[in-house]
Amino acid sequence: MNKMGIPDKHRAAFLVNFKSALEMGYTETPVPKGDQVLIRVKGAGICHSDVHVWEGIWYKGGSPRKLPHIQSHEISGTVVSTGESVPERLKPGDHVLVYPWQWLEDDRYTAAGLTNVPDRPVVPGINIDGGFQEYFLVSHYRYLIDATGIEDLPALAPLSCGGLTTYRAVKKLDGKLQPDDYVAVVGLGGLGSYALQYLRLLFPQVNIIGADIREDSIEFADGICKMDGYINSSSENVNKIIMETTKGHGFRGVIDLVGKGTLSTYSRALSKEGIYVMVGLMGTAVQESLSPFFTVSMEKTITGSYVGTLSEQYEVVELARKGLINYRKPVSARMRIEDASSGIQNLEDGRALGRQVVVF
Ligand SMILES: [Zn+2]
Repeated sequence: MNKMGIPDKHRAAFLVNFKSALEMGYTETPVPKGDQVLIRVKGAGICHSDVHVWEGIWYKGGSPRKLPHIQSHEISGTVVSTGESVPERLKPGDHVLVYPWQWLEDDRYTAAGLTNVPDRPVVPGINIDGGFQEYFLVSHYRYLIDATGIEDLPALAPLSCGGLTTYRAVKKLDGKLQPDDYVAVVGLGGLGSYALQYLRLLFPQVNIIGADIREDSIEFADGICKMDGYINSSSENVNKIIMETTKGHGFRGVIDLVGKGTLSTYSRALSKEGIYVMVGLMGTAVQESLSPFFTVSMEKTITGSYVGTLSEQYEVVELARKGLINYRKPVSARMRIEDASSGIQNLEDGRALGRQVVVF
């Protein structure tokens, strides 16, 4: 313990062997230098990407770089100490959210504000150590978003991935929607419950239709943000149900948070000038079909949306601070660090409804 009450070592959950339970242990508490900031972690969210890291399927691609590894890229906390180059406005005790989509060096994308697609990404919890530990060293103060006025700091953590990714995806529809258009959110539960809220807030003129294969996910999301209709994607005749639900119009916009067997069905349901935003990465091995004829002749747009920019991260936190979105309800489970493994397992088995957060 040093004179500021910071322990020399602190507890962390380590991924030692892929697909095995995380192991509790101790790691050294670093002293921040230069632009760095040490934070006391309050919330560390569990995301579907954590399942991929835990399984080791991204290991060859460098995520994680080495084992043992500390997971979680959704981190909120309070400032403990700062390096000598950090501006004085950041003080011990400040509430912060960590923007996880960091980069090693500036490039033409980050210079243009596209911080979500840097040439050399560095992501805590994915390729370097993340938030399943009591203290976390942030490499640069520019990645910290002020969370003053946010009551529930642990529940804020998922806004750095789940709540950010859905925000950028929904904003892709800006300028494309007319009154009474139909917009679908495919994949409800945690991510879907953020997406529904952003749609309702930004596009009050449209009808929002949710789609999922699980009735409990539909109910969960509807309890957070009332939908205008919903579709159980596992129904037979799902194409017919879509046309009935949209009164024959189809969707002007689709936010696809699944990406597994959904592109074929829901891109077909897109209306003229419709825009399809692909977000979910789950089904990379699944064959999907896209009709060249209808995509061209109906001028459909198929686009990808990846996490969100640093600017968008500020916007999302502001929406939570002003109470314009409910950031607490999508969090369906809070757990101790010792139970982080079972949280990952819940996601892998498809048992989690909303977002799960490790709370310190
Ligand atoms: Zn994530």
